[in-house]
Amino acid sequence: MNWISEWALPKIKTLFGAPREVPENLWHKCPACEQMIFHRDLERNLHVCTHCGHHMRVGARTRMDYTLDEGWQRIELPKAPQDPLRFRDQRRYVERLREAQAKAGQEDAVVVAHGSIEGNRVVAAAFEFSFLGGSMGAGVGEALVTAARLAVLQDAPLIVFTASGGARMQEGAISLMQMPRTVIATRMVKEAGLPFIVVLCDPTTGGVTASFAMLGDIQIAEPGAMIGFAGARVIEQTVREKLPEGFQRAEYLLEHGILDLVVKRGEMRATLARLIGLLRTPERVVAPPPAEPVAEPLPALPAPEGPAVPA
Ligand SMILES: [Zn+2]
Repeated sequence: MNWISEWALPKIKTLFGAPREVPENLWHKCPACEQMIFHRDLERNLHVCTHCGHHMRVGARTRMDYTLDEGWQRIELPKAPQDPLRFRDQRRYVERLREAQAKAGQEDAVVVAHGSIEGNRVVAAAFEFSFLGGSMGAGVGEALVTAARLAVLQDAPLIVFTASGGARMQEGAISLMQMPRTVIATRMVKEAGLPFIVVLCDPTTGGVTASFAMLGDIQIAEPGAMIGFAGARVIEQTVREKLPEGFQRAEYLLEHGILDLVVKRGEMRATLARLIGLLRTPERVVAPPPAEPVAEPLPALPAPEGPAVPA
C-alpha cells in the first residue's frame, strides 16, 4: 500500500465516476497492411482501410446500407428444407446451422431486399460470408429464386453481391442442384429484359463462381477480391506450375477480360446508379421513321412451259 492506492486512486475514481461502458474492439487491425484503424474511421470509410485501401469483408445487411438508399426493406424468404440429408461430421449439420442462424440473425447465407439506388428501383441480394462461409445450399438457392422472381414482378434490375466458399458440402447433391436452379432464376430476369448485375466480393469461389455469378450482364468486382473456382494451391499442385502474381484477384481478372469493372466500395452506389440509368432509360436518339413501302405490282409469272395438264 502506498499513497497512490490509498489516496490518489479513490480521488481519481470519484473525479471521473464509474468507468463508462466502452465498446470492445475500438481499434481494428487491417489484415493487409497490419496498421491499426479506429472503429469510427473504419465505419466512415465503409470498412476500407484508411492506410492502404484494402477492402475488408462486410456483412450482407451492412452491404445493403452502403449501397441502397435509406429505407430499403428486407424480404421474408420462403423456408427451405433444413438438413435434408441428416448430415453429420464431427457435429450435426443442423447444430451448425442453428448456431449460424442465431449468430447472424437470419435463416441462411443470403439477404434479399428491395429498395432503390439514387432513386432507381432495384432488387438486391447479398451473401453473408460469416454464415457458414456463404456456402450455397437449398436456402441460398431459394433466396436467389425469390430475388429473381421479385425483380421480374417489380420490373426492377437484379443486383447480387456474392461472397461464398461455394456449394454447401453438408447438403451434398442438393447443394449442387442450386447451380442450375440459380442460373435458371437469373435467366428469368434476362428474359424479362431487365438488367442482371453481379458484384463479386471477396471471396467468391466454387459452385457460386461456376453458376449464376459469372452470368451477369455486367460483371463488377471490388478491388483485391479473390475470385476463382478452385483455390490457387490446388491448381498449382494439379498443373505443377507456379501461378502468376495476383492470380484470381479482381485486377488480374479485369486485365484478362473476365470482368467489366473493378469498382471501389465508395464509388459502388454511383456506378450502379449510372449503369442502371444507362440500361433502363429509353434511347434518346430518335431514329428516322422507316420509308413508306412502295407497293409495286409483282411481275406476272411466265406461263409454265410444257403441255397443259388435263383437268
Ligand atoms: Zn491496410
